[in-house]
Amino acid sequence: MLGALEQDVAVGAVTAPDGGSDMLAAVRAITDNDLHPIVNQIDREGVYPDAVMRALGAAGAYSQHVGAEPRLDLATEAMAIVGEECLSTSFCMWCQNAMAWYLANTPNEALKSKMLRAVSTAALGAGTGLSNPMKTFFGIEKMRLKGVKADGGYVVSGTLPWVSNIGEDRYFGAIFGSDGGDGPPVMFCVDCSAPGVSLSQNASFTALEGTRTYAVKFKEHFVPDDMILADPAGEFVRDIRAGFILMQCGMAAGLIEGCLQIMRQTDKSHEHVNRFLPDRPDAIAEKLAALKEEVVMLCQTPYETSDDYFRAVLKARLAGSDLSLVAAQAAMLHAGARGYLYEAPAQRRLRESYFVAIVTPASKQLAKMLHDMDA
Ligand SMILES: Cc1cc2nc3c(=O)[nH]c(=O)nc-3n(C[C@H](O)[C@H](O)[C@H](O)COP(=O)(O)OP(=O)(O)OC[C@H]3O[C@@H](n4cnc5c(N)ncnc54)[C@H](O)[C@@H]3O)c2cc1C
Repeated sequence: MLGALEQDVAVGAVTAPDGGSDMLAAVRAITDNDLHPIVNQIDREGVYPDAVMRALGAAGAYSQHVGAEPRLDLATEAMAIVGEECLSTSFCMWCQNAMAWYLANTPNEALKSKMLRAVSTAALGAGTGLSNPMKTFFGIEKMRLKGVKADGGYVVSGTLPWVSNIGEDRYFGAIFGSDGGDGPPVMFCVDCSAPGVSLSQNASFTALEGTRTYAVKFKEHFVPDDMILADPAGEFVRDIRAGFILMQCGMAAGLIEGCLQIMRQTDKSHEHVNRFLPDRPDAIAEKLAALKEEVVMLCQTPYETSDDYFRAVLKARLAGSDLSLVAAQAAMLHAGARGYLYEAPAQRRLRESYFVAIVTPASKQLAKMLHDMDA
């Protein structure tokens, strides 16, 4: 399959030449016209928004951050626009963006030229399975994938319980521990249809059901050298981690903006009583504006290695999680009984908001990382 997708790496062709405004306008139109009508199907029936994801790819939503001058701010803003309507779709965008980010940064030029354009235009669907290693690097759990060196590559076994935005014809980035698990981490690209890789969907979720989330089992799966993203992966992970985390702020910003819209809508009829609630839209909007400004600033230097920079990235991500929870609760309280109806946006946003706070790095991990850095 890869052979058929092989193209030059000049993704600049789909990178917005106009500072991003055309791309963002196209993302807004797709969100309003194509995504809005199906949000409850995504949420309640687990429908995956395939056509929307592809249209966003064609509009350039996943290619802003992969050129010579990565515009992580634009990638993040596109996710925020979509997230105003639907967190599942915004999260799927993040999955696609994360894999494009790995490919844009890999020293494996052959893999990059085979896959980057296809992933950054969504001709090829892609995801990321880094939750477990991201927790492993910060002392929270053990590496689930174990690899041993073999002729021309590695043999990998283990299970990742949740990987989203994938399927039999898709790819994702993952990390195994070499030397049977305890050696240096190695990052690789998984072909979901390769021998020794099997996908299963045993769980159903309280939100984010339409995200094509699978458990992925590796049984003596052979990873050829040409599918290696970084070996060893330590420095590579240091390079990509700020972008990985900052782009998640797009999910948070979109969700918070969607909650503000609910609050303002209900204020039209209930401002006389809503104004006694503790968390009001103007105060939340002010915090959101400050957060977005901070994220745009941090997006300018994703490869910066200072502790101060990384601490600021973690704090922005944590602030996004915290404000998502506050905004979603406030939206629910503003909406009242109307928000409690089965298909009301307020109760959906409330369920979605917890995902911002639990997806790796979860709030508790971010707090631990900040604590460990300060210790
Ligand atoms: C809808 C959804 C989509 C996700 N998509 C991705 C993705 O695309 N890529 C990715 O890398 N991660 C994904 N995750 C995982 C996510 O990022 C977190 O790692 C996960 O929510 C656990 O984090 P935690 O901080 O709660 O873990 P902790 O509280 O520290 O630990 C919980 C541990 O228990 C394990 N666990 C709990 N319940 C189960 C279960 N039913 N089956 C197997 N193991 C279990 C977890 O894997 C984890 O190791 C997804 C999770 C969800 C709920």
